Amino acid sequence: MSTREHPLGISFEFFPPNTDAGREKLKGVRDTLAERRPRFFSVTYGAGGSTQARTFETVKSVRQCGIDTAPHLSCIGSDKGELRERLDSFREAGITNLVALRGDLPSGMGGMGELRYANELVEFIRDETGDHFQIAVAAYPEAHPQAPSYEHDLQNFVRKMQAGADIAITQYFFNADAYFHFLERARALGVEAPIVPGIMPISNYTKLARFSDACGADIPRWIRKQLEAYGDDSESIQAFGEEVVSNLCQRLLDGGAPGLHFYTLNQATPALRVLDNLRCDS
Ligand code: FAD
Repeated sequence: MSTREHPLGISFEFFPPNTDAGREKLKGVRDTLAERRPRFFSVTYGAGGSTQARTFETVKSVRQCGIDTAPHLSCIGSDKGELRERLDSFREAGITNLVALRGDLPSGMGGMGELRYANELVEFIRDETGDHFQIAVAAYPEAHPQAPSYEHDLQNFVRKMQAGADIAITQYFFNADAYFHFLERARALGVEAPIVPGIMPISNYTKLARFSDACGADIPRWIRKQLEAYGDDSESIQAFGEEVVSNLCQRLLDGGAPGLHFYTLNQATPALRVLDNLRCDS
């Protein structure tokens, strides 16, 4: 680790803004978060209808601050020729980090593409570009919502790591035991790479509930009930959310998590509040 990095190995995820105001705002968020010396930033693709071109533009803008920035690249709906072109343009731009995903097709959109799963994408990237990219993949401590079983999903995760991924970033979760169990199972199956917990700060209950339903993240009943009770009192929601997520992060770090990856939703404050509550001496 370079001396410039935060001792906890943190990273922050953004989505590509679709307005000029959003792009300006993101520069400010990026600069504020860059002061925490993250290992990398990453920029999503596809979510909310964003295109690969917008992801790439956002990556180029974000990395101007000097922090490595990883585009998310998904294979669903693309053929190998398109993926090859994207990899070439990333390489030409000097990008060395990627988050490789299967992705999800927006409902009503046609075919799957030539590569069906993320393990096939990782294999393709390694075949095409050797060791050029540091590849991160997704992990699901509470199982991917489409997986027929926990075991099936775990085996598929292992397959993805064996295809040549360097690190994994988890879907967000609020139950530290789910992470520790997943970690133990993955280690027992030979995965040695870092598995970094993905952290979703809580600032808006309605949005959180919607996201969580879609991606299969469990909001424990005691958290849901408490958040529901606050109604539209956003100050109380934020204060409670900050406490819950800070405690979760501290427990993860105390239990040996190699870092934290924050889903920022292009906001600096919720992630910073959590970071400020943590003992950073681990
Ligand atoms: P996979 O690993 O391919 O798994 C998908 C499903 O298929 C799972 O149920 C798995 O068990 C099964 N499976 C996997 N391999 C096989 C196989 N070989 N044979 C049979 N079954 C198999 N979404 C976006 O749209 N844009 C983003 O930028 C984005 N970024 C993300 C970042 C992170 C860190 C995470 C955790 C998720 C992200 N997502 C993003 C969501 C992700 O695209 C969805 O969860 C998607 O449904 C699965 O992608 P995956 O790469 O995990 O797929």
